[in-house]
Amino acid sequence: MAKWADVIVIGSANVDYITYVPNLPRPGETVAGTHFETCFGGKGANQCLAAAKLGAKTALVAKVGQDATGDDYLTYLDKNGIIVEHVEQIKDQPTGLAQIAVSDDGENNIIIVAGANACMDGKAITRAKKLIQNSKVLLCQLETNVNATLCALRLFKGISIVNAAPVLKEMPPEIFSSPSIFCVNEVEAAQLTDRDEIKTLQDARAAAIDLIDKGANSVIITLGAQGAVYMSKDNKERCLHVPAEPVDHVVDTSGAGDAFIGALAYHLARFPNLPRERHIYAANSVAAHSIQHRGTQPSFPGEEKAHNNLC
Ligand code: ADP
Repeated sequence: MAKWADVIVIGSANVDYITYVPNLPRPGETVAGTHFETCFGGKGANQCLAAAKLGAKTALVAKVGQDATGDDYLTYLDKNGIIVEHVEQIKDQPTGLAQIAVSDDGENNIIIVAGANACMDGKAITRAKKLIQNSKVLLCQLETNVNATLCALRLFKGISIVNAAPVLKEMPPEIFSSPSIFCVNEVEAAQLTDRDEIKTLQDARAAAIDLIDKGANSVIITLGAQGAVYMSKDNKERCLHVPAEPVDHVVDTSGAGDAFIGALAYHLARFPNLPRERHIYAANSVAAHSIQHRGTQPSFPGEEKAHNNLC
């Protein structure tokens, strides 16, 4: 049994069925796709793999189906060096899936069916308790049972990140206040703060203040081509903007946020005492690599993109 990890992730594992289309279909519209790919995905597994590829010792707590897809997923995670002893195969449930459409300009839309992911529960967290407590960074999203996520956050004392995606209809207040870092993209930040949209850095700053007022200890809002902003509850006057790494040609933005968060977790585990600005700078750089390559997990870079001299 593994005793510790740099990054332990509690979250989803899905299979992504990706179609590439000239334009995303409007409601009721049928469009001809140009090609099709099947990839392993799910926010939990994506972020875990992003950290693992950079060189982190990672563990995943997740559920997949007791089916051929689940078997393949486990083999694949294991091959990528991820500790899978807490990835459980569930009888009579399919492995979760995501239908993803990606347009020529790199935009995407996504439909998810939870399948085995819906079986995540407090028991899984209890079983993984020692490994969770001995790990450096705990990373969670909201594609699996939020009560299980809260259990894990309560027993963890290190650096924790909640990527609040997708936004839930009912957000338990503890999901804002428990993690060290509350991280969302601009769409989720707008949803959570009752804004139509977040376009400017001023909008992002106002949303970050609102999220701190909801209880967050610190907030990162990712802003696509504008990079990300960071705010800590200790200093709401200071909204730190870390610009994105410039990219000439965007190929596919799916997974950019997961690349960012996995990289954030890796760099936090490696350099816990550096200013957040440095971690975010490195995460922007890894995410910029990801959007220049096709797919989600296949687009995540390897150790050559880890910023190992951040000091
Ligand atoms: P999500 O994938 O969740 O929608 P974002 O669109 O905010 O998240 O992107 C996450 C990160 O990916 C950004 O913070 C940035 O670092 C990087 N990124 C996204 N789009 C671009 C872009 N056009 N140019 C450079 N970096 C980008």
